[in-house]
Amino acid sequence: MKKGILIITIFSGILGAYAQKAKPVKETSTAKEAVKDYPVAKSLASYKSLPLKADISTLTDVQKQTLRHLIDAAKVADEIFWLQAWGDKKTLLDKVKDDALAKFILLNYGPWDRLNNNTPFVQGVGEKPKGANFYPKDITAQEFEKWDNPNKNNPYTIVQRDAAKNLVAVPYHTAYEEKIREMVKHLSLAANAVRQEDDRFANFLIERCNALMQSNYNNSDIHWLGLLNNCLDIIIGPIENYEDEFQGSRTAFESYVMIRDMAWTQKLEKYVSLLPSLQQSLPVDAAYKPTLAINSAQPAPSNGSADALLVVEAPLPGAPDGPKPGSSLAVFDVVYYAGHNNAGSKTIAVNLPNDETLQQEYGTRRSQLKNVMQAKFDNMVKPIANLMLEETQATKVNFDAFFNNVMFHEVAHGLGVKNTVNGKGTVREALGAGFSPIEECKADVLGLYMITKLLETGELIGNGDDFYITFVAGTFRSVRFGAASAHGKANMIIFNTLLSKGAITRQKNGKYNVNVPEMKKVISNLAAELLTLQGDGNKEGVSNMLITRAVISETLKTDLSGIEKAGIPVDLIFEQGTEVLGLDNK
Ligand SMILES: [Zn+2]
Repeated sequence: MKKGILIITIFSGILGAYAQKAKPVKETSTAKEAVKDYPVAKSLASYKSLPLKADISTLTDVQKQTLRHLIDAAKVADEIFWLQAWGDKKTLLDKVKDDALAKFILLNYGPWDRLNNNTPFVQGVGEKPKGANFYPKDITAQEFEKWDNPNKNNPYTIVQRDAAKNLVAVPYHTAYEEKIREMVKHLSLAANAVRQEDDRFANFLIERCNALMQSNYNNSDIHWLGLLNNCLDIIIGPIENYEDEFQGSRTAFESYVMIRDMAWTQKLEKYVSLLPSLQQSLPVDAAYKPTLAINSAQPAPSNGSADALLVVEAPLPGAPDGPKPGSSLAVFDVVYYAGHNNAGSKTIAVNLPNDETLQQEYGTRRSQLKNVMQAKFDNMVKPIANLMLEETQATKVNFDAFFNNVMFHEVAHGLGVKNTVNGKGTVREALGAGFSPIEECKADVLGLYMITKLLETGELIGNGDDFYITFVAGTFRSVRFGAASAHGKANMIIFNTLLSKGAITRQKNGKYNVNVPEMKKVISNLAAELLTLQGDGNKEGVSNMLITRAVISETLKTDLSGIEKAGIPVDLIFEQGTEVLGLDNK
């Protein structure tokens, strides 16, 4: 890691003091070298560029004005993410003359290809630091371990060195003070604009401003959970921890500006009411599936389990009318992506807030991003299915099944345990950097498991085979991300498990065949395996699983290259903003 870091300093010149010391290039030859002839133009062309649109014809003038301010705020989140992922964007881009290279850097928020295991594509930058730009470049795991500081795992701080070279944790609102002020300004303008039509949404925006200025998001997250029928919405702030692969704790700035789809939202609420019984049906011992309550009228479970989700026992602080307790599912069209969610692959569903304590007390909201899901399905999943699956199976791949798979993935994050069953603290703490990929894997597997259960009870209508085969088709798309992302690792664990157990077979013609009855069994066993690893806080077991199963085999690599040859996009690039939306014409 050190070696790669030294090369970065040569290139960027940001840490000028180190640059002169960083000459021993030979030492770096074993590191993942910057690629001289990296196929940047080709990599860029593998993304499908399309306008990110939504129907704004029903919006009022006030809503349109609000939307403009929200987009302005989102743009600032984008700038902060640049600082977190790389550092000074301008320093990096100023050295670049080539148009395609500049575009590819912008897409990746830095010089490492996010869909190719973070391989460097700019000469001389070296490997991407595991801790991105959240930590000093020369920090080691040992030094971090020894560091005694109450904020060492605080998700809203960056780690720096003081004048005496000691580690210090600096809160985001201090580290990014100027940009936070700017973001707050735009959010305040949005609040002022929307207040005459939607007081609650305006109050949330003000609450979010306070959160950003104090690096304390609890109150605003609680307010946000209570927004159930506002037409406009925004997710903004430091949210996901995937960018921090060093400790898995620090959060990356991002924003989604969204318009709600009311019809779908109602349809989806039904499934949340089924969560408690689904939890009980999980194929593990009782300790690994504590009782869930989803109705405020229901008392907390008598076993006093701290894992009970969605139980609200008292009026919510700072939110007099309070959010409706329970997990909510909502469907949106996104009109602007910014920061982490816009880097490389585009998220199609998001489950928030991430804070376990809030999740336990107030539940979560799962936002399904419908216009983007449909775009990904049409441009990627369906063409990949046609290429990779046997013809009779490829025809079963459809958007409805895809939509449900993703929806239940999000629901499944709420299942299982948040705390270990043996006093090792939360699952997240116990598993460290291994938490994210295993949690994503659990969500995939339990999502499928739940679909099977709901089909059995008639709560869900559809052909069971479609969901499983569509899932595998989705996996082919997703494993093209490589092992860099938590979702990619999760998908590879599932794919390799299915393959080794014979639930997926590769035919002589190179097409894959899914044995659905067999796959059901394997998924059920894998569910039990993952829930047990999490409940036990089994860090070693998780590490083992990642090493042995979160890998792409040579055969699969070859098959995936067939997808490239067919010219199927790896992901999407959004042309986005007020102009694309038609918001510029007042
Ligand atoms: Zn997930």
